[in-house]
Amino acid sequence: MPQLTFLGAAGTVTGSKYLVEANGKRLLVDCGLFQGGKELRQRNWTPLPQNPATIDWVLLTHAHIDHTGYVPRVVRDGFRGPVFANAATKELCALLLPDSAHLMEEDTAHAVKHGWSSHKEPLPLYTEDEANAALERFREIPRLGEFRISPEFLVRPHNAGHIVGASSLELEITEGGRKITVLFSGDLGRYGQPILYDPEKPPRADVVLCESTYGDCDHPSEPPAEDALADVVNRVAKRGGVIVIPAFAVDRTQLLMYYTRKLEDAKRIPCLPVYMDSPMAITVTDIYRKHQEDCQPQFNAQAGANDVDASNVHVMRTVDESKQINDVHTPAIIISASGMATGGRVMHHLAQRLPDARNCVLLAGFQAEGSGGRLLEDGAKYLKIHGEVVPVRAEVVNLRQFSAHAGQSELLRWLSGLPAPPRQLHLVHGEPAASAALQAKIQSQLGWRANIAEYLKTTDLSV
Ligand SMILES: [Zn+2]
Repeated sequence: MPQLTFLGAAGTVTGSKYLVEANGKRLLVDCGLFQGGKELRQRNWTPLPQNPATIDWVLLTHAHIDHTGYVPRVVRDGFRGPVFANAATKELCALLLPDSAHLMEEDTAHAVKHGWSSHKEPLPLYTEDEANAALERFREIPRLGEFRISPEFLVRPHNAGHIVGASSLELEITEGGRKITVLFSGDLGRYGQPILYDPEKPPRADVVLCESTYGDCDHPSEPPAEDALADVVNRVAKRGGVIVIPAFAVDRTQLLMYYTRKLEDAKRIPCLPVYMDSPMAITVTDIYRKHQEDCQPQFNAQAGANDVDASNVHVMRTVDESKQINDVHTPAIIISASGMATGGRVMHHLAQRLPDARNCVLLAGFQAEGSGGRLLEDGAKYLKIHGEVVPVRAEVVNLRQFSAHAGQSELLRWLSGLPAPPRQLHLVHGEPAASAALQAKIQSQLGWRANIAEYLKTTDLSV
């Protein structure tokens, strides 16, 4: 009988990996990296229970590293099949995977140089060359419609409205003449956002895996994202500070730039220099421009006029250019990865800017347990960066309005669009408290029983 094993994003928000087995064939839906605290990151080093050489296909919902960042590792460990992804996801992965490797290599080199790793000989999980080798296994699938992988597996992607290319995947499994449909929500976006469309209404399914990142809360709708951003920028500029934004290059940066430009054009904020310490973010914006089918007409129109970025953007490509930002002592905005402050160039900016109370760290997305961003969000007085203790005097603001993830009521809205209750409903991609809160809401509002997925557990899809 077809079965599914939760190899990640069960009891946590990262490491998405779901192994579906039918007729002796193995399909891995998403292949993400665990991110956050040490214990979670350690899981990336534990071999999968199944030898990657025995997996036939990988199928991706969207490009975020916590859904794709383990692909180079499975390829390195013997996976030889195709990795199926739509055009936008494939284009984003071509940027994100080598970048992920590059960050790992940079962090490893830094650890070796300064001796702050607990490992004698720290190694990256994979190298940039290995990431590039993995990209050669990518095969493009249609954005919408239907795609047959094999006699056992047929896929119908639906727009998830989370980042460009993001899909919910309807997987029809055929075994022994019986058909079972499993729906993977993927990461679900928000309703009523300015760039991407709303998540599509879900189709009927026997089994549903639903994300629960914000299963326990809604994003504030007041003040609206634009007003909240204007307040922070004006406040920090007035006191001569710098705003550091740890940002995901994909989507958060586009949304921030879109709003910044809008506010500048309306003369509601000063035109501050924006240091884009991530050349990748600019390329990502081009991918958004290219995939007009995913974006709303007002964004496409503005993108056509070439002004979806803030008016005074400096792109810092090299490490040396990045270091030059240290000399900036007038109000400015620095956008740099990683988005949860778990590594990458933003760590240097935080080390530099956190001790000054005039500055501000603007968090613009989900901060996983154990990440630098979460520690800041929780009011840490110190942050340990590259082996040094850095005092936190800067203001820390989390603009949850900028989240790319559906909040609790948006998750319920998506689920209630199902034409019929599923036979099995599994909550994934959430920390335990968030999944439990959503489980209770589903029970009280929809009257459905939901299971909270457990790491490494296998479920029989036929019951
Ligand atoms: Zn995502």
